[in-house]
Amino acid sequence: MDKEIKTALVSDFDGTISDDDFFNYVSRQYLGEQALAPWREYMAGEKTHFEALREIFASLRIDRTAFDDFIRSIKIDRSFFAAADFCRQNNMPVYICSAGCDYYIECLIGREMKEYGIRLVANHGVYKPEQGLLMTPPPAESPFFDPNTGVSKAAIVRYLQQAGYRVVYCGDGMPDVAAARIADDVFARKMLLLQCRQLGIAARELKDFNQVCHFLKGERE
Ligand SMILES: [Mg+2]
Repeated sequence: MDKEIKTALVSDFDGTISDDDFFNYVSRQYLGEQALAPWREYMAGEKTHFEALREIFASLRIDRTAFDDFIRSIKIDRSFFAAADFCRQNNMPVYICSAGCDYYIECLIGREMKEYGIRLVANHGVYKPEQGLLMTPPPAESPFFDPNTGVSKAAIVRYLQQAGYRVVYCGDGMPDVAAARIADDVFARKMLLLQCRQLGIAARELKDFNQVCHFLKGERE
């Protein structure tokens, strides 16, 4: 990539840095198929993305230590940190933006986020075994607030572009589509890749973050 142009890396978390969505992990491990009813209602347009996740997460009733241990067992693409390290050394801001919540992201990669100076924009989550994982959106006056997902990923991309950055965006799902539409370069997998193909949004298929790291370094993929 052109070294004269300032670049920022923005990535979704669930299903992009981690293998799958957190609500899928917890429903498989703890809640069962019926707990996904709010998700089906979201898919049918009857609930917002935020409401669906909030309901699923609030139904968890697990001892906190067991829950945190479970979170730490989730598989992530550790090559994301190679990309983040390259960005840190080259003054490229790295953002993780998530329509999930900070509780499990902090629990899983909080140490690395601090180490590599990664900024997290996500809904806030508090876990109490008697109340589940309680999720709250950013305040409505936040520049990154979105009424459907809580966090507007597109607003983060726009904010960086207005600050003069070329934005490389990585994602996998429907809440990533608006951000992918305006990002300068897109790496997509799963539903986002299909949406990009259908909507004519230029996107590379995201295989892992080594590929993104090569791209940021200007190396051939
Ligand atoms: Mg995702």
